[in-house]
Amino acid sequence: MIELSGVSKTYDGISVLSPVDLEIPIGKTTVLIGPSGCGKSTLLRLMIGLIRPDSGVVRFEGMDLTPENATQLRRKMGYVIQDGGLFPHLTAHDNVTIMARQLGWDAGRIASRLVELGDLTRFPVDGLGRYPTQLSGGQRQRVSLMRALMLEPDVVLLDEPLGALDPMIRSDLQAELRDIFRSLKKTVVMVTHDLGEAGFLGDSIVLLREGRIVQQGTISDLIHHPAEPFVTQFINAQRSLLTALGDANS
Ligand code: ADP
Ligand code: MG
Repeated sequence: MIELSGVSKTYDGISVLSPVDLEIPIGKTTVLIGPSGCGKSTLLRLMIGLIRPDSGVVRFEGMDLTPENATQLRRKMGYVIQDGGLFPHLTAHDNVTIMARQLGWDAGRIASRLVELGDLTRFPVDGLGRYPTQLSGGQRQRVSLMRALMLEPDVVLLDEPLGALDPMIRSDLQAELRDIFRSLKKTVVMVTHDLGEAGFLGDSIVLLREGRIVQQGTISDLIHHPAEPFVTQFINAQRSLLTALGDANS
């Protein structure tokens, strides 16, 4: 579905991504995980052609992504930006439908798509007239997801979609997201820094460190067959956090 060969990126002479090879399989959920600043968001932006690699090629559905076709191809990719990225001056309705209106969809088609998406994401119809600041964090995430899905993309890319939510809402939404991904049978690429979330949602997990892919596999592969000591360190760091929390609560 998406294929990166030898893709690298530098900012101001500093390497952010070493040459990366990665294949995102069709119909599966691939999760990118790793410490803050390791290049997860950069990798996602390269996949949708928002930024250009310094070397290498990004292919989407077999086609090289170029500055000329990026806008066209991006319509087949739904993108949920880190922190949601809703336009504050637009209502939920207008945020979700902005691209469809630009593309000249008729009102009936837009309305029926909105009903489908409201059902899918369990967003209340009476919330559509509200502005982002008038919605809860969970509702804003539902709106961001509806916006990403509006044009029926072939692939959905989500950058820490649940990062800003409190833990209770987060675990509810994780379960809902999994149901949504399964029912849509779409290709999903999701960024998280939470290993539990990665294991829960991801068919395949890509662990990054300092702009390099350390390992790709299932959560069980990472736990039982770590490619290098960092994998185990990363897993244990997240585990000890949980243990510390458990001790604090007992
Ligand atoms: P992650 O999403 O894994 O936290 P990012 O991909 O956002 O990491 O960033 C990777 C590195 O690239 C960081 O060191 C970040 O500061 C740097 N970086 C990201 N975007 C830019 C930019 N537009 N200009 C300069 N440096 C950037
Ligand atoms: Mg990021």
